[in-house]
Amino acid sequence: MAVTESETLDRAVAFLREVVRPDANAMDEDPEALRPALAAMGERKLMALRLPAEYGGPELPEPLFRAYQEEAARASGAFAFLQTQHQSAVSMIAKGGSEEFRAKYLPGMDDGSRTIGIGFSQLRRSGPPALSATRASGGYRLNGMAPWVTGHTFFKEFLVGASLPDGEAVFGVVPFENREENGGAIVCKGPMRLAAMEAALTMVVEFKDWLLPDEAVGFVKPQGWIQNNDMINVSLQASFAIGCARAGLDLVLEAYEKKGMPFLKEAWDALDAEHWACKALADNQELPREDRLRARVWAIDMAARCGHAAVAAHSGQAAGKKHAAQRVYREAMVFTVSAQTADVMEGTLRRLVARGGEPA
Ligand SMILES: Cc1cc2nc3c(=O)[nH]c(=O)nc-3n(C[C@H](O)[C@H](O)[C@H](O)COP(=O)(O)OP(=O)(O)OC[C@H]3O[C@@H](n4cnc5c(N)ncnc54)[C@H](O)[C@@H]3O)c2cc1C
Repeated sequence: MAVTESETLDRAVAFLREVVRPDANAMDEDPEALRPALAAMGERKLMALRLPAEYGGPELPEPLFRAYQEEAARASGAFAFLQTQHQSAVSMIAKGGSEEFRAKYLPGMDDGSRTIGIGFSQLRRSGPPALSATRASGGYRLNGMAPWVTGHTFFKEFLVGASLPDGEAVFGVVPFENREENGGAIVCKGPMRLAAMEAALTMVVEFKDWLLPDEAVGFVKPQGWIQNNDMINVSLQASFAIGCARAGLDLVLEAYEKKGMPFLKEAWDALDAEHWACKALADNQELPREDRLRARVWAIDMAARCGHAAVAAHSGQAAGKKHAAQRVYREAMVFTVSAQTADVMEGTLRRLVARGGEPA
């Protein structure tokens, strides 16, 4: 009997709640705690939820995939952040590129026998390209750096985006390890010391005359593609902040159940209602862009406030290194800046400023 999309979502959510969430604090600190969780996800063939049916994937529709991403962020920020790089690579490879490219890279991405991260946030930056590509015999030569590539040693390769002289961007798959080949080199520097999600091992990757061979080239995107894509996806990215806010709310409720102080429940009730309103706005992809941007900014604000509420509700214990409340608060910080655009930055700051004023 065919597995339905909602059965796949249920299975994925059960995995997050039963396997990932109980170990979230360890996963935040230790790559070796993240590794078995990613392997378990592969064993359940959940690593490529957007994989098209023709490649044996569940091809989860966007709303269900968003629901999954929320649950992932609710379970563990580090795990959510790590696995989403690979799931994004699946979506991008499935949507773009020749049939040969898809047939080469998509098989095995669901069970983790092929693992691919992403490294193209440098295309968001204005000014001279951080990573450039020039046409050469047999492919493109890459020079410069990808400032953020998460998943070192978890992912064997990553999908990189590099700027062409005419402003277009070429995307292709490169090794995610130090390599010298064809007169060029890849040098991975890090892992970065980060206040959250450090265990997901984020690197700066330098390219010195690296040959991206034609058979590893996926597609070329027009100038301004990432800005356009960011606009389309502005509220899709809100799922992580919404899930993170829910993790904070779970902790407020837990504190109420332990301490019985009525104002804890009152705070939870108010934030819970606001959370659903925010989620409803973010889930509506038909809204004009300003509303979708408003949803993203609201979700970021909710993640920070619910994380802070969790810290306040758990008192001094929350400041302990092993406590979930401070972890969720730190995770809110990363979800504030990941896939940040100038508009998201501006909206986040405007909302923060607007919240000031007389004490309640
Ligand atoms: C822990 C962590 C891991 C990450 N892992 C990955 C990963 O695996 N793969 C990946 O692709 N990305 C990854 N990112 C990148 C992430 O999505 C970026 O944070 C995001 O793209 C914002 O870029 P930036 O932080 O480099 O900021 P900036 O380069 O400062 O850019 C932020 C925004 O402001 C705009 N801007 C900046 N300066 C100016 C200016 N002077 N004038 C006008 N506009 C300006 C930029 O165009 C951009 O839209 C990761 C980020 C973090 C924090």
